Order: sequence, then structure tokens, then C-alpha cells
Amino acid sequence: MARAVGISLIQEGEEVKYDYDLLVVGSANADLVIGVEQRPAAGETVLGSDLAVHPGGKGANQAVAAARLGARTALLARVGDDAHGRLLLDSQRDAGVDTAGVLVGGAPTGVALITVDPSGDNSIVVSLGANARLAPEDVRAAAGLLGASRVVSTQLEIPLESVVEVAKVVRDLPEGTTRLVLNPSPPQPLPEEVLAACDPLIVNEHEARVIAGDDLGDSPEDWARALLALGPRSVVVTLGAEGALVASAEGSVRVPAVKVEAVDTTGAGDAFTAALAWKLGQGESPADAAAYAARVGAVAVTRAGAQASFPTAEEVAAL
Ligand code: ADP
Repeated sequence: MARAVGISLIQEGEEVKYDYDLLVVGSANADLVIGVEQRPAAGETVLGSDLAVHPGGKGANQAVAAARLGARTALLARVGDDAHGRLLLDSQRDAGVDTAGVLVGGAPTGVALITVDPSGDNSIVVSLGANARLAPEDVRAAAGLLGASRVVSTQLEIPLESVVEVAKVVRDLPEGTTRLVLNPSPPQPLPEEVLAACDPLIVNEHEARVIAGDDLGDSPEDWARALLALGPRSVVVTLGAEGALVASAEGSVRVPAVKVEAVDTTGAGDAFTAALAWKLGQGESPADAAAYAARVGAVAVTRAGAQASFPTAEEVAAL
């Protein structure tokens, strides 16, 4: 059977000509950050620092992380027809991400309003805005983009129905065309059809507990076993400064973290996921891909910010 995929047609069994190493389907937010002495209580007004506006959102972060490493990367997302949307598009393009799949309009760009005190504790209000309008129909309309990508990576800052649609589109492609990677953040219980499509499902401990329940067992190996029983083809558990665990039906391996002086862990998980997804698509073993991703995450934690902290391939090699 022939299928329309991007500008090319894929025959069952035929070698696919991929336009992208990685397609990220996910959120794009403007992070509006104000430093304060003390975060305001109800009814209180406090004075803070100058406003800093940073491009963020897990989808946008992953796309920038992958492109900066050298992956041919595209983003499927929705932003508003406003200044924050233009900031996000510009930051994607500056990193080398193809933004032809970014939809504009329907609601204001998603925003995270962040106040942070001198100890680093913060309070955050998120307005999903346009992210909540990235609809299943938008995913279906971009099916050609998914089929023209070696790997599709998604998260849960867009509607769950749209993540379900991503899983369906990937599942309906000829076997082995496109690999789906999911970091279920912020976590919620997932339908079976999504779990079954993940290769891997990438979680930290909190996400593992929300998805598989609290009686997960004590060790990351136990958590991975509990998650694998839910259907994903493989599981990666991220363990912060302890590194990561890679698991599948064949068994599990620990991948140690690279020892670094951590300055700011914001975005480390996004950088790790993007790097892992890219390397898996390049045919590396899960253990090798995770070891590379751990190096990328390690560089990211040595620098402030999210997108600003993501390394180039040269910087990873120099670590
Ligand atoms: P998440 O944000 O999803 O919880 P983690 O904090 O576990 O993700 O970070 C993802 C990866 O980044 C880790 O698996 C690890 O490889 C790397 N990493 C995170 N924190 C550190 C750290 N303090 N030192 C070295 N590597 C780190």
C-alpha cells in the first residue's frame, strides 16, 4: 500500500526518505519571570525585579535542545498571533528548528507567570492558551510531517486527545517508520493505546508513580518493571544526579550521571529527552543513547536557564 507522507510516497517495505531526525509535538510558552524578596501572599502586592521573558514550554525546549545538537528538527505546536508567539518562533528558528508546522492563532500564546525568591523557591501560574488548542485535527493534518520524521517526541502540556492522535498516526504508519518517545509531564494516567506506542516512555519517579500507581516497589528497576507491564516497548527512568535507568523486556541497565557542579536543573529533563530521542533515531542502542543524553543533561545543569543552557554537540564532546 502506498501512503502520502510529506512530499514523498512510502511503499510498505520501502526505505523511507526522512525529512527530519526529530519532530517534537508539544507546548510552547513564554516564561515571564520576576525576582522578588518574598513571594506575595493573598491580597498582597510586592515589588520585584525587571521582567525577564524567556522562550519555554517542554515542546519548544526539546526542539531547541535537539537542533542545537545538530539534529534535523521540526516543531508541531500552536502559538498565539502575538509578541510572545513571535518570540517563540524566532527562538526556534535561531536554533535551526523548522517551524513550518507551528500553527498560529486561536488563543494567546501560552504563558508561565513565575515569581522567584532569593532562595530559588518559586510560584508559577500557567495559562495554557494556544497550547490547549493544539487539537487532534491539527495532528491528523500534520500526519505527513510525522511520517517524514525518524522520531516523534511528545509530552503532556497539550491536550491528551492530541497525544492520543499522535500515537494513532504513528501506529498507522508502516511498522518501523517512526518511533514515538513520550515524556508524560505533567503526569496523568495514560490510555493503553498511548502507552503501547511508546519506545521509550521517559519518566522520573513522580511521573512513574502517577502513571503506574504508588505500589511501584522501591528501586528504579521495580518502577521500570511496573511501567513495562502497562505496555510500552521500553522505559527510561531519569534519576537526576543519579543518572538514568534504561529498561525493556530484555532487562535493564543503569546509566551513571556525569559528575558536574549543578547550577540550575531547569530544562535538564527536556535536554535529556531530546538527545535520547535523536540518538535512538540514529540507530544507537538505548544504553548508548541514554549515556549521550546524560552528558547533554549534565552540561545543561551547569548553566542557568532552560533553552539558554542547552549545549552544542561540540560542548558535549568537550565535557
Ligand atoms: P526531570 O527533570 O525529568 O526530573 P532529571 O532531573 O532526572 O529529569 O534530569 C534528566 C537527566 O539529566 C538525568 O537523568 C541526568 O542524566 C541529568 N542530570 C540531571 N541532574 C543532574 C545533576 N545534578 N548532575 C548530573 N547530571 C544530571
